[in-house]
Amino acid sequence: MTTPYWVAGTATTSETELAVHSPFDGALVGTTSQASARDVERAVAAAEAVAPELAVLPAHARAAALDHVSRRLAERADEIAALITGESGKPVKWARVEVTRAVSTFRWAAEEARRFSGELQRLDTDPAANGRMALVRRVPRGPVLGIAPFNFPLNLVAHKVAPAIAVGAPIVLKPAPATPLVALLLGELLAETDLPAGAWSVLPVPNEVAAELVADPRLPVVSFTGSGPVGYGIQDRVPRKHVTLELGGNAAAIVCPDWTDLDWAAQRIATFAMYQGGQSCISVQRVYAHRDVYDEVSAAVVAHVRKLGTGDPSDPATDVGPLINRPAAERVESWVAEAVAAGADLLTGGGRDGSTVAPTVLAGVPEDARVVAEEVFGPVVVLQAVDSVDEAFERVNASRFGLQAGVFTHDLRVAFRASARLAVGGVIVGDVPSFRADQMPYGGVKESGTGREGLRSAMEDLTEQRVLVLTGL
Ligand code: NAD
Repeated sequence: MTTPYWVAGTATTSETELAVHSPFDGALVGTTSQASARDVERAVAAAEAVAPELAVLPAHARAAALDHVSRRLAERADEIAALITGESGKPVKWARVEVTRAVSTFRWAAEEARRFSGELQRLDTDPAANGRMALVRRVPRGPVLGIAPFNFPLNLVAHKVAPAIAVGAPIVLKPAPATPLVALLLGELLAETDLPAGAWSVLPVPNEVAAELVADPRLPVVSFTGSGPVGYGIQDRVPRKHVTLELGGNAAAIVCPDWTDLDWAAQRIATFAMYQGGQSCISVQRVYAHRDVYDEVSAAVVAHVRKLGTGDPSDPATDVGPLINRPAAERVESWVAEAVAAGADLLTGGGRDGSTVAPTVLAGVPEDARVVAEEVFGPVVVLQAVDSVDEAFERVNASRFGLQAGVFTHDLRVAFRASARLAVGGVIVGDVPSFRADQMPYGGVKESGTGREGLRSAMEDLTEQRVLVLTGL
């Protein structure tokens, strides 16, 4: 049976069938259909029409809808994890983690919906404002266009939908072409709530239609997660819209000489360089280890990487599955070959089987090689020795990206210095850069984007302050 898409909360199909295939073996995972031009128009018109009503929907009603989705995700977790694995090729052990995170994302959104309000500001700090105060409320900027990538097809969709519902903003969601089915299943759960029609739509559409949606003035907010070229293309086309960009990176981990458990650090680096085949915007791509500990770190990373199981993502023992498609795997393979040709040492890996790239560790790579300077988005990590922590900071900052960095140190002074000096959205002390808790502010600087997600931050982003000045108090 074909999976329906969702227009203003109603299940719908069209004549244009879309088949979704497994990136691992090409098996048919399911079918849906492409939203018709008429349905796209209905979804946008409904979002615009419901916006005033949704903006004043009581917090308890918004929170109840979010809590319901959270509960239902938990109840259907196994089925949803299997679907994530099917359409994205993500190993099922990581797909389960993603579902658990999405359960929390919706629960946090419900909690924030209950407490999100504004502030009372006194104005009588100046004699001209004697007897006055301001009520500063947060009101939705307007209907949101959410555009999602393939690599977290549930939780990054949750990070678009949940904060929009929490603030009372309608959302039109466009899932990634490779992974629409999980987003459409989320639509089933949203349809079980009492949210008014028009509050949400999930539309599988080709990129040209998505580009038209970007330009549509009835969707004044665009919340985009994906690659830089597409994100900046969007921002350039609609400079007057409120655009949030969550883009890519080449995240780094620094191993300081004081760190005691080097094997644990190496195990974390190996795991989070390779998980999801490196297809995470904060997977560990670069490691700067102090020369005093470099040899031990390097040997341990290679040993841990060699222990990772590759293969069928539906096997619970598999650590590293396929990339999203074969061209992606061929690109990563060619970047590794390019680094080796430029003089890099291939410590392990380097091969490819179909769309699965062998977990690869490189050392001695020139800093301008693409595996260092660009976002690899594959299971590749580059190890470099540095003479000081300050040199590591400089090399982390030499990137044009800046999402998160990890610093293995026990020294609080180094932690504060890292936080002050590293040009990133977040520094993770005592772990890899890949750590993300869904409620914390999350986003990048430089070419990693603009704006922050994480429930409260996203809710601030989707709203603007409106002041009510009270006189004669
Ligand atoms: P992508 O940029 O190819 O696609 C992202 C989305 O944009 C998809 O839904 C796609 O269909 C849509 N799109 C493409 N062209 C469009 C256009 N002209 N107009 C409107 N929409 C258009 O990215 P991807 O390959 O799906 O995802 C991988 C990228 O996402 C990586 O760079 C990764 O680092 C980044 N990412 C960032 C974060 C973050 O939070 N910073 C999280 C996950 C992924």
